[in-house]
Amino acid sequence: MRTLDTFDAGIIGAGPAGIAAAVQLARHGVRAVVFERESTGGLLRTAWRVENFPGFPGGISGPALAAVLDEQLRASGALLVRAEVASLDREEEFLIVRTDGRGVRCRAVIVASGTRPRGVTDPDIAPDAMDRVFREVDELRGVRGGHVAVIGGGDAAFDYAMSLSEKNDVTVLVRGNSTRCLPILATRARSRKRVTVRMLTRITAVAKGSGGRLRLTSLSEGGDGGSVRADLDADYLVLAVGREPDDGFLSEELRRDAPTLGERRELLFAGDVVNGIFRQASIAAGQGTHAAMKVAAMLRENVGAGVGSEETGVADSQGESR
Ligand SMILES: Cc1cc2nc3c(=O)[nH]c(=O)nc-3n(C[C@H](O)[C@H](O)[C@H](O)COP(=O)(O)OP(=O)(O)OC[C@H]3O[C@@H](n4cnc5c(N)ncnc54)[C@H](O)[C@@H]3O)c2cc1C
Repeated sequence: MRTLDTFDAGIIGAGPAGIAAAVQLARHGVRAVVFERESTGGLLRTAWRVENFPGFPGGISGPALAAVLDEQLRASGALLVRAEVASLDREEEFLIVRTDGRGVRCRAVIVASGTRPRGVTDPDIAPDAMDRVFREVDELRGVRGGHVAVIGGGDAAFDYAMSLSEKNDVTVLVRGNSTRCLPILATRARSRKRVTVRMLTRITAVAKGSGGRLRLTSLSEGGDGGSVRADLDADYLVLAVGREPDDGFLSEELRRDAPTLGERRELLFAGDVVNGIFRQASIAAGQGTHAAMKVAAMLRENVGAGVGSEETGVADSQGESR
């Protein structure tokens, strides 16, 4: 690999957390390099309607909000690299961000990589059925006139039901006897003619049936407390059954040293990647701004001590309180 370019700040992920961080760094005169493997906007791209992001009375669709954030990222002047970060390591005083074919050295990195779908062992899905099974709804955006089954009882499952039922019939399959989503989402979904919600339903197997459709083997609770088998055909299946932090690119050494590097404001985390169940866009954006302000202050102090960027320079700060 050729000599690495040097940046003051690197950001991994261009969802609300990463974009807010890039925008705030720009206000401090720091041009960040932002790595994003998909399109910008993060999980907002899959959200049906966002009603709790300040600034949008009446709400805004997830893709529309993602587009606004994308515009703001571009206007910030941050350098957007469309690539997946494969590893993040430390060499001397730099953090090294590597993608397939590119590496950059950063004085500070903000990890804003969000979450990925959690691995599942249940239901048992036949290999030839996998091409009709999805973990997010992005790829189903163009599908119309079909029947989509969604497994899950949380916010994502019911949000997916809202967006998919604009053009398709949707059956939400909930294993338990209650949902875990915002009540308003469940009420809205249930009021849609094209949405059916089946409670106490466990899908045990998924196979390819006739005509390439999916055959879902389903066990529902019968009146006598026993199980009743009731198979279901669907064109597509979405598994909305949990997410986990997407931080597999962190080296073991960095994981171990993260608290110390955090105190030194060289390695910071923002957004869903560290938020457990508190996964909301406005929380992520606030944390991105917070992390950026810490990084800017650290760079300002170090520039005073003679550390500067070969690529970007660190302009005079506009002050942390702005
Ligand atoms: C269906 C649904 C509906 C939602 N509705 C709402 C709502 O109404 N209101 C609300 O506030 N929140 C909502 N959310 C949650 C909100 O979308 C998230 O909280 C928010 O997007 C988190 O932002 P983030 O920047 O932390 O992570 P993300 O949005 O997940 O962004 C992380 C980004 O990092 C990228 N990335 C990850 N790993 C790498 C890597 N190795 N290399 C390069 N790039 C990488 C990803 O591609 C992604 O673009 C919803 C979520 C879903 C799924």
